[in-house]
Amino acid sequence: MPDSSSIEINADRLWSRLSELAKIGRIEARGVTRLSFTKEERAAKDLVASYMREADLEVREDTAGNLIGRREGKDPEASVVLTGSHVDSVPNGGDFDGPLGVLAAVEALQVMEEQANETERPIEVVAFTDEEGARFGFGMIGSRATAGTLTSEDLDREDEDGVSIAEAMRDAGLAPERIGEAARPEGSVHAYVELHIEQGRILENEGLPIGLVTGIAGPVWIRFTLEGEAGHAGTTPMKLRRDALAAAAAVVGTIETEAARTGTTVGTVGQLDLSPGGINIIPGHVSFSLDLRDIDQGVRDGVEARISDEAGRICKERSIELATETLQRLPPVPCSEVVRGAVREACEALGYEPFELASGAGHDGMQLADLCPVGMLFVRSKYGLSHNPDEYSSKEDCAAGADVLYRALLKLGGRS
Ligand SMILES: [Zn+2]
Repeated sequence: MPDSSSIEINADRLWSRLSELAKIGRIEARGVTRLSFTKEERAAKDLVASYMREADLEVREDTAGNLIGRREGKDPEASVVLTGSHVDSVPNGGDFDGPLGVLAAVEALQVMEEQANETERPIEVVAFTDEEGARFGFGMIGSRATAGTLTSEDLDREDEDGVSIAEAMRDAGLAPERIGEAARPEGSVHAYVELHIEQGRILENEGLPIGLVTGIAGPVWIRFTLEGEAGHAGTTPMKLRRDALAAAAAVVGTIETEAARTGTTVGTVGQLDLSPGGINIIPGHVSFSLDLRDIDQGVRDGVEARISDEAGRICKERSIELATETLQRLPPVPCSEVVRGAVREACEALGYEPFELASGAGHDGMQLADLCPVGMLFVRSKYGLSHNPDEYSSKEDCAAGADVLYRALLKLGGRS
């Protein structure tokens, strides 16, 4: 373990900025709520912009509302190094998910300025618009726009009040028809590196403050619909039943078994609806969701195929009609060796074990993978909690993460 005196970034400044940002959108003790294109998100961006100016960064916002702070390189024409995260949150979210990555990056560039450390490449901190997807059920809007993959149909998606992304953008003073201008040209980005809280308990379990991310798991979302036959719970013998829930229970058991078998895949049934829903009625109809992830697409798809075969067999045996619908299918994104190498070197220089782990949660880097090499580093989360008001990473761990980020950025930027 390195001693804290070797830390170059200003831990107090980073911590006090995190605390200030956490006041925006706070509802008593119930965490922070900063949905995209709201006044809370605007206030958060304004505060971060003020910190960017303190760090002597050149501040702008693109047509997707991404807030960008740039530190010029010795070669202003060189491809840029991007770093950052997001400042939107889920409802009643925590103080660290997103803000830590943005503020650690601002801190790193401020120290670079204070120490007069020049880099060949420009470095830009980005606070991406709507990473979480909490408002429109469709996240990573800012990073998709940066990658040039956002379509005008995407902007038709609506929040629960029927306000579309395009309308929300207009209300926030943005012009949705100009969203294409936020796309970065091919070859213009050297690398993207993001610091984020782990949102899991692997690092805590290992007793390590920092982790080096190997890849971001890609989720498949599938909806299973099972049609059996509703009937009287008292008069229908067991052998004559077509119980949709009993069949669903067997499928859910298969999901757990097949995901666990690989050691890396995670499978979750988080939604389940049944009808008619009476205490004395056999369930005739069940629908449930599956979220299946792995950082290896082949492994994930293999598990999916086995679940699908087994679900078909179970339902056939029970005379249940089964239908499945794929709601989302994202490829996993391996972190690039360019970024992993820079983070590993930074960890080693500072005396941190470059412990490797996968990201089970999605992040903006997934959207940028076709644009540039991407990578991430994680900071330990207390109890692994996230999307929760009790989400917490210690001041020391946040500072350690920012310090590693600082050195990794110097490496990626080409310190001169
Ligand atoms: Zn996040």
